Amino acid sequence: MFTQKIGCSVTDCSYNNASYCIAGQIKVGGANAHAPDSTNCESFTKGNFMSSITNAVGGNSVTSIDCDATTCQHNFKHMCNLSNVQVNSSCQGSECAAVAQTFCASFVE
Ligand code: SF4
Repeated sequence: MFTQKIGCSVTDCSYNNASYCIAGQIKVGGANAHAPDSTNCESFTKGNFMSSITNAVGGNSVTSIDCDATTCQHNFKHMCNLSNVQVNSSCQGSECAAVAQTFCASFVE
């Protein structure tokens, strides 16, 4: 199975485990995007519930990234084909409260 890793600086997301995403499957938005900041991680969920569980269990691989940014070179039929993706934000820590504050830094038009 093709697995992907998502480095993620959105530390206040429930799926963030030591700066990696452990959601298993995520959705990235950004139809008609021309730059990274026109994308966002629609799976962002504020909180630390999941990461507190997976800190004990381990694992930081994602099995699929469903992505609407079809203008990205890494997008193939609405799926991301990069093995390592980086998600960042325009906010820090508890300031992060909305999907719109997140973006895929790996986007390349
Ligand atoms: S690298 Fe491109 S295809 Fe992959 S998640 Fe980011 S925007 Fe979508």
